[in-house]
Amino acid sequence: MRSLTSLAASLTETLRQAAAHERLVFLCSFQKEESVILDELLALAPQVRVVTIDSGVLFEQTLATWRAFEQRFGVQIEVEEALATPPWTGPEHCCGAQKVAALERALADADAWITGLRREQGPSRAETELVEVDARRGGIAKYNPLALWTERDLWARIHERDLPYHPLHDQGYESIGCAPCTRPGSGREGRWAGLDKTECGLHV
Ligand code: SF4
Repeated sequence: MRSLTSLAASLTETLRQAAAHERLVFLCSFQKEESVILDELLALAPQVRVVTIDSGVLFEQTLATWRAFEQRFGVQIEVEEALATPPWTGPEHCCGAQKVAALERALADADAWITGLRREQGPSRAETELVEVDARRGGIAKYNPLALWTERDLWARIHERDLPYHPLHDQGYESIGCAPCTRPGSGREGRWAGLDKTECGLHV
């Protein structure tokens, strides 16, 4: 187990490496990971574009956190729409076709991107490295500065720095996506609960 001090140093070092890229994108979903990264990132990489993917069916608490982030961190968050057009027919209705397409648009001109992926989040993320080569996107760099952080580490940092965070985390939602597909649960078990699906496609 690593100390919060060493994890914080690793976060800073990884973000410094990312900051060397001119066309850097941070993908933001307004969860606790984004609270921790944004707090550090903007001073190190003022050129970064912070982008969110809006399905049009986000929780109202997500929209409130969006406003809180912009206010606290002084950043204008860009939007790529991946609208979940009715009638909504289930988890494959929009994740694959729309959300991934929105990510591709967000990264079209990027030479590196940053995510909040952590190994602890589940088997599909257990091999996450701090820095990866994104082979699906022409070999651009993908930085996962929280790869080694645990839930406990994140909350220690959030409380230490009094960071804004998504209020649904306090209601049993450890992972938060779109409203129709997210339930309370630990880890990512509340995402597409009851189905085999564990990823929307952005990180596979
Ligand atoms: S999580 Fe659900 S609502 Fe959101 S894009 Fe995927 S299928 Fe659509």
